[in-house]
Amino acid sequence: MANPNVEVKYTKLFINNEFVNAVSGKTFPTINPATGKVIAQVAEGDKADIDLAVAAAKVAFKRGSVYRNLDVSARGRLLWKLADLFERDMNTLANLESLDNGKTFDKAVADVYGCILTLRYFAGWCDKTCGKTVPVDGGNFAYTRKEPVGIVGQIIPWNYPLLMLVWKWAPVLATGCVSVLKPAEQTPLSALHAASLIVEAGIPPGVLNVVNGYGPTAGAAITSHPDIRKVAFTGSTDVGRIIAKAAADSNLKKVSLELGGKSPLVVMDDVDVKEAAAIAHAACFENHGQCCCAGTRTFVHEKIFDDFVAEATRLAKERTVGSPFDSNVQQGPQIDDEMFNKVLGYIECGKKEGAKLQAGGKRHGNIGYFIEPTVFSDVTDDMSIAKDEIFGPVQSILKFKTLDEVIERANNTTYGLAAGILTHNLENALVFSNAVEAGSVWVNCFLAVTCQTPFGGYRQSGLGRECGEEGLELYQETKTVSIKLPINH
Ligand code: ADP
Repeated sequence: MANPNVEVKYTKLFINNEFVNAVSGKTFPTINPATGKVIAQVAEGDKADIDLAVAAAKVAFKRGSVYRNLDVSARGRLLWKLADLFERDMNTLANLESLDNGKTFDKAVADVYGCILTLRYFAGWCDKTCGKTVPVDGGNFAYTRKEPVGIVGQIIPWNYPLLMLVWKWAPVLATGCVSVLKPAEQTPLSALHAASLIVEAGIPPGVLNVVNGYGPTAGAAITSHPDIRKVAFTGSTDVGRIIAKAAADSNLKKVSLELGGKSPLVVMDDVDVKEAAAIAHAACFENHGQCCCAGTRTFVHEKIFDDFVAEATRLAKERTVGSPFDSNVQQGPQIDDEMFNKVLGYIECGKKEGAKLQAGGKRHGNIGYFIEPTVFSDVTDDMSIAKDEIFGPVQSILKFKTLDEVIERANNTTYGLAAGILTHNLENALVFSNAVEAGSVWVNCFLAVTCQTPFGGYRQSGLGRECGEEGLELYQETKTVSIKLPINH
């Protein structure tokens, strides 16, 4: 049940299985984006708190510790237990998410389901991460072992606060690593409730720590910490660059990055226009456009262009905007005033650069950070709204003639996170899927992200893959052991 008055119980840092104040005693406000008002003051961690969390993680990871000595299947059971607790507390988690992030309650519930599936999926990997025996020259007995990298620093964004938390925690437990995680400063509340479930799940102290705080302070303390072996980051490309640099300059920690995108969705002329427009609408406006793999460049074949634009415009005009707790609402507010102003700035830019505004184009209401679902047609590749990641409810519709032309244009970007094509022609679908430079390609669907399949970006959309079997690799070292045997054995 949606409940905007959900109780906020946890506002401190979670270190060594205890909720504690920041060493500095500082707090910061977390804001309700639907009203612009403060929900709660949250403990503000910085370097001193990251140091404490890393020290706790170090003890938890020490050879001979309770955690290191757990049976592999017992680690799997910790993940299952955590999933059960997410299921039990689904209502609270989803309400906190809607309150702090502004996403609609039903979407928040869907995110919690995604968390549960992810935890259970990774539970299955705990006793299945195998090395190999390797035939080698010289007759030695050689084998490889998959070992945990150790203390992992994890920095997550505000657009899917819980899901990104679980995408980070699940492989940590599956591989036997330990973690210090920093939620985004805009959305600490659901992560803190999730942290409260760690003790109940039976996860030993120090294994999973949560330190709220800002990027340049707490975040930077993670990326430059000498005892952290790997940093996993999801967020903007600009911050990804800072993180990779800090990781290299400190102790050359391993880095995985899931960054921005400007994903193309190609609509061929053999589709049902209504169905195609509905898929393209959902691809773009998912999570209020605050989705790294949103399909924000809608390329439409010239033969169906006008009909498609009319349908896309109708859908955007009908999209309901309002309180995330209202079950009739499809779109809540943008996350904060900074993003709100950034998105409105791009809309003005689109108007100035000569794109045709078909729907929306301004603020919705006069409190909170709501923006009208906005559609531009006649967008050209050189416009900022076709090039930059806007991260808001803005669809840019571009016209094309041939598949070859649209492949070139789809790839004409610095990003490479996702792409899609809508067509009944198998050959066109396969040619596009092979040629487009993106980590995920969706045919006749979009945003088909699952915990079983790898997710990540080509080019400046990232480094490494999360989820699926590949998702484990980022958290493991491979050790080769060679044992000398007598000749003629
Ligand atoms: P978004 O554009 O999605 O807001 P950001 O990349 O700004 O994403 O932020 C994502 C996460 O990165 C947040 O947790 C934020 O606090 C953190 N962050 C921002 N700047 C830095 C930094 N200099 N070092 C480490 N983490 C940072």
